[in-house]
Amino acid sequence: MTKTTELFGSMVFGDTVMKQRLPKETYRALKKTIEDGKDLDIGVANVVANAMKDWAVEHGVTHFTHWFQPMTGTTAEKHDSFISPTPDGQVIMEFSGKELIKGEPDASSFPSGGLRATFEARGYTAWDPTSYAFIKDGILCIPTAFCSYGGEALDKKTPLLRSMETLSGQALRILRLFGNTQATRVLSTVGPEQEYFLIDRKLYEQRKDLKYCNRTLFGARPPKGQQLDDHYFGAIRPRVSAFMKELDEELWKLGVLAKTKHNEVAPAQHELAPIFTTTNIATDHNQITMELMRRIAYKHGLACLLHEKPFAGVNGSGKHNNWSISTNTGENLLEPTSDPHGNLQFLLFLCAVIKAVDEYQDLLRVSVASAGNDHRLGANEAPPAIISMFLGDELTDVLTCIETDSDYIDRVKCDMEMGVHVLPNFKKDTTDRNRTSPFAFTGNKFEFRMLGSALSIAGPNIVLNTIVAEELRQFADALENGADFEKDVLALIKKTLKEHKRIIFNGNNYSGEWVTEAEKRGLLNLKSTADCLPYFIHPKNVELFTSHHIFTEREMHSRYEILLDSYCKTINIEAVTMLQMAKKSIMPAVIGYTRELTETALAKEQLGVNADTEKRLSSELSSLLSCFISAIDRLDQAMINVKDTGDIAQQAGDYREYVFAAMQEVRGVSDRMETIVSKKYWPWPTYGDLLFSV
Ligand code: ADP
Ligand code: MG
Repeated sequence: MTKTTELFGSMVFGDTVMKQRLPKETYRALKKTIEDGKDLDIGVANVVANAMKDWAVEHGVTHFTHWFQPMTGTTAEKHDSFISPTPDGQVIMEFSGKELIKGEPDASSFPSGGLRATFEARGYTAWDPTSYAFIKDGILCIPTAFCSYGGEALDKKTPLLRSMETLSGQALRILRLFGNTQATRVLSTVGPEQEYFLIDRKLYEQRKDLKYCNRTLFGARPPKGQQLDDHYFGAIRPRVSAFMKELDEELWKLGVLAKTKHNEVAPAQHELAPIFTTTNIATDHNQITMELMRRIAYKHGLACLLHEKPFAGVNGSGKHNNWSISTNTGENLLEPTSDPHGNLQFLLFLCAVIKAVDEYQDLLRVSVASAGNDHRLGANEAPPAIISMFLGDELTDVLTCIETDSDYIDRVKCDMEMGVHVLPNFKKDTTDRNRTSPFAFTGNKFEFRMLGSALSIAGPNIVLNTIVAEELRQFADALENGADFEKDVLALIKKTLKEHKRIIFNGNNYSGEWVTEAEKRGLLNLKSTADCLPYFIHPKNVELFTSHHIFTEREMHSRYEILLDSYCKTINIEAVTMLQMAKKSIMPAVIGYTRELTETALAKEQLGVNADTEKRLSSELSSLLSCFISAIDRLDQAMINVKDTGDIAQQAGDYREYVFAAMQEVRGVSDRMETIVSKKYWPWPTYGDLLFSV
């Protein structure tokens, strides 16, 4: 056995440990809970808790925590020790089934969007046995869902689990129609590729914008950016390599399947991709990955930036959500097969996704909306804010043939007798890559590319699972009472393609023509978070989520408020930081340098020496400075104006329209001054320093 295989999962109370440490009966009962969602009884929980505690204590653990994902986007934990007093004044280490199953953190400091009145500040956390407990930083972490006392979800995991459940149920209905009696569960799987920047910690510390906002609010472009494309897949520098090595090892200990690591397009940018797994575990693992990235960077004298756009002018960071659905017997439902019957099934599932993406473009857009991601979507390196789907020419041709009843061009690939076209094998096809598509079919999965790097993947997957479940429900309703199954399926596929093919686009999503074309097709183009959030609570979307029991209407409104509120707060913090940096540091720096220039000019003139250069620079700076002051005044004023509105949606709109716009102006002037002012005066490290420091 190699070292890595020993390391892998060594800090996880996973299947192997459970099998070793639990009595057979208990193990079997727990397995039933994990696999079939059966309720866990307290007797079983007690035995599991005790075994878990013994295992943890052997690893030097003294505390446990219910680890959960509140709506802040990060994770939360509150540590309790195992110690329990004995009558003789000693302590023993104890952990009961009750403590394992349920915790009661004070919920009042987590966002609830009005769901939780302050008089009932308590919330509770409930163990999610489908995600294994693990030891992080000497603490036993128990993955949990977080609810209010009224039972409303206050976290991201509860609706995610609900969405997996509904998808499983509806997909099974379809599978039964195709004669599949083996599968008992359908799982959505995700492999999230994570991008990030690494910069020198000492330089990071000198920048208030990075510390408070995770992105630079000022900074002139360096002479060298990413023009040469020499960073992508380039050799990894030693400091970064040491960081990556430790990150891999720590992730492996926690059972995270970290697989690929490489440099990205922008200088100082990197990527980590894990091997895919079940959606809820992938979600937990991605949170852990982001947390460890920050922590391990710190240890190595680095700062890990997970913001979507830490630097203007160089690529931002995204997260590619590779998503598929498969049965518990291992069949990937989005993978074409070589037999006609299997293909018909594949095409039906594919059509469910096509219809879902078209009908719920707005929800997919909302699911990736954040103030940070607004800088990315629609910019040159990221997919546009318009949702469309890439299927590749081959698959699109097949679909067109089915839709129009025409023979597939290449007759070899047809099986006309069955009336079903046999698909060519897409699996290994990498020639057909379209990197500009926000939602691309990549042979056996879809790659949703619009996610920002800092986002929890829970939200987009809740939407994906639910919208596809809804389409499968409609399909199953239509097919269950049909007379001729195969004929009905084909007719349904045709109808779906006719009605929803507008969402398919295989061309360049970055081109201006696409924007015009998309508008003609009636596709949405929701440019900013403020523009798209209101769609979340449209009646059609409320109907979707409530009918599948993902959210109650109240939960939806609470989430809507939280999203808007967090958007406003983010821009507010950025604006306040910007004003402080501008007034306290940039202005004095420019004034200082201007004074040096004028004094030099004066001294030179007294000696009869030509001082034109100094005079020209100082007058240029003086006029820029007065522009700067006006821009600052406008930003100040925009902040005052926005405060007066009572309506949060309106407020978000104002932040976008006035505050954000005013910030651009302030930055524009400052970046011009930065190119003129002497390095000696400039108050913080430049882009060049930050991007080429490691
Ligand atoms: P890329 O060229 O985009 O980097 P890769 O082939 O390396 O693509 O895979 C990207 C991600 O897709 C990986 O995390 C991989 O585990 C994941 N992936 C592969 N198959 C599936 C699947 N069936 N469901 C979900 N994710 C998958
Ligand atoms: Mg990818």
